[in-house]
Amino acid sequence: MACCHYYAPSDGGDEAFAVEGAAVTFGAGVLAEAGDHAAALGIRRVALMTDKVLAGLPQVVAVRRSLTAAGLDVVLYDEVRVEPTDDSFKAAARFATEGKFDGFVSVGGGSVIDTCKAANLYSTYPADFLTYVNAPIGGGQPVPGLLKPHIACPTTCGTGSECTGIAIFDLLAMQAKTGIVSRRLRPTQALVDPACTDTLPKNVVAASAFDVLSHALESYTALPYSKRAAPKRPSLRPLSQGANPWSDLGCREALQILGGNMVKGVVEKDATDARHQLMWAATLAGIAFGNAGCHAPHGMSYAVSGLVRDYQPDGYPTGAPIVPHGMSVIVNAPSVFRFTAPACPDRHLRAAGWLGADTRGAGEADAGEVLAGQIIAMMRATGVPNGIGGVGYGEDDIAALTEGSFPQRRLMDNAPRPISKDDLAGLYRSALAYW
Ligand SMILES: [Zn+2]
Repeated sequence: MACCHYYAPSDGGDEAFAVEGAAVTFGAGVLAEAGDHAAALGIRRVALMTDKVLAGLPQVVAVRRSLTAAGLDVVLYDEVRVEPTDDSFKAAARFATEGKFDGFVSVGGGSVIDTCKAANLYSTYPADFLTYVNAPIGGGQPVPGLLKPHIACPTTCGTGSECTGIAIFDLLAMQAKTGIVSRRLRPTQALVDPACTDTLPKNVVAASAFDVLSHALESYTALPYSKRAAPKRPSLRPLSQGANPWSDLGCREALQILGGNMVKGVVEKDATDARHQLMWAATLAGIAFGNAGCHAPHGMSYAVSGLVRDYQPDGYPTGAPIVPHGMSVIVNAPSVFRFTAPACPDRHLRAAGWLGADTRGAGEADAGEVLAGQIIAMMRATGVPNGIGGVGYGEDDIAALTEGSFPQRRLMDNAPRPISKDDLAGLYRSALAYW
């Protein structure tokens, strides 16, 4: 399909792309629909998964009330760990196995939804934990069949996990972030209630929205599907298939929404409509990256969050240091897009324009700088950290950051140009500070 030159055929490259639909119900108040959707899916005994903080908040209360009103037998699991690990995935899987549920409902951010995907998988198709984990760390075995119904209810405007077949966790023994990727993990139904964003702290909206922004930019500038090696069998075509015309649609719309609403949604009090728009952008970008895959800003982010020493942003639970996912991604992004722009300058330039940059008179040679400049302007306007230096890293940390993220092949190989280890170190160096 040579609908644009980006998708021109290449020797040995894939000749088709897949469209994987997510079933989404979007609207203020839809959490109250959970019970009816669950009953319609044939669920009678349901595991309601969330974390300790969310368990007492109105969103979980609303979903629980709805499930109970529909006559379901509801058992709450609130032990989900923020930034889940293999241990916390296994604990959730044990709960799911012992509970003999016929369906799952998750209410929370990406950590909760991802944990619920894993609990559903291991309780439905029990196996040694590494069996389904991405190769080479795990066995990379395909999920054997359909999972039980899972209704996912996101409470932040960021991860898009409700639309994807990806579950990410920290493998403690290797101190590495990895995941399980299968179209079978995609939730059966996403209930996206934008009213969840009304009470989120400013910093949480900023981090979530930058995660969305990077999902859309990375999917749009990813290696085109036609340059990825064709799969050995058509059924083995990966979920992270590279940029494709379907994902492009969601990316364009998400970036335009972000350009018009992101700064307002973060900095203005009571900018309810802007925040609801950000939730829709998160859903669109989730569908896009669920079909295309992210690349280097996400690949680099895992080491940025994993090696954190003492950074503690406002708006997050105090106690443990944390670089929230969206922040750990966006601090790398300007550096990466300066590097990747020569591979597809028109895409970088167009994306910058959708985000609100003035691209008049800009040529292909300016594309990386124009896009990086627009991201940096949005970072400054929303008060997020100034590069990886802003979350506590210095020149001395670059070797460890590089070692930590170089093995993220699923993501790194999806970038539009090859990234060597030296390139990667250079990307971190250029991400130390932007202003
Ligand atoms: Zn992300």
